[in-house]
Amino acid sequence: MGTLKPCPFCGGKGVLHSRDISRPGVHEKEHFVRCSSCGAFTNIMCQRCYDKTQDVKAAAIEAWNRRAEDDGKRRTAGLGSEDD
Ligand SMILES: [Zn+2]
Repeated sequence: MGTLKPCPFCGGKGVLHSRDISRPGVHEKEHFVRCSSCGAFTNIMCQRCYDKTQDVKAAAIEAWNRRAEDDGKRRTAGLGSEDD
């Protein structure tokens, strides 16, 4: 499994949250990553939205890390430097 990058907004620790949202007859789980410091979070990824074979936990981690990277790029490009 991938490693979570620091929060793009505050540098805090990203934490993977997994919830069992099963209903009778439907086994369902959802996953998302949330910053333990400022509370920023990714979209909630549920297994039903993805192919059965896909690792949704990994998708949530990827979404979080992609956001961290995008924000980092913007910062180095000189846009959105108001937080320094
Ligand atoms: Zn944060």
